[in-house]
Amino acid sequence: MTSEQKYDIDRLQQRGMGYRKIASELGVSPNTVKSYLRRNQNSTKEIQGVCKQCKKPVKQTPHKKAKVFCSNYCRSKWWRNNTDLVESKACVVTICKGCGKEFITYKCQKRSFCSRRCYVQSLNNEKGMGSYNDEK
Ligand SMILES: [Zn+2]
Ligand SMILES: [Zn+2]
Repeated sequence: MTSEQKYDIDRLQQRGMGYRKIASELGVSPNTVKSYLRRNQNSTKEIQGVCKQCKKPVKQTPHKKAKVFCSNYCRSKWWRNNTDLVESKACVVTICKGCGKEFITYKCQKRSFCSRRCYVQSLNNEKGMGSYNDEK
């Protein structure tokens, strides 16, 4: 299996698709998908968390910072309901100047973009269009 296929399986599974559906979608045998999902589940089992907002299990990415929300939606909802906590932890909900999504950042970081991708994209857009003053 290619890593691309693995990625697709992960993606489709996150949408709630069963392994049979995934298999027909990707044109691989159901057994391949099934055994991959089983292996994958075993490897991520121990590092599963629970979404702070909706209490659903959150799939964690190995070697990355632990996720506490299942989705951006839950994250922004939770932060909106917990603004006191946001203050005390010196975090702010910021609107990404690239894609317009809400994201959480530390005040001291003063980030204007949710991701490096949005940042780079915006830089490209701004190129040759006068001053760039997003980083206040
Ligand atoms: Zn959630
Ligand atoms: Zn963005």
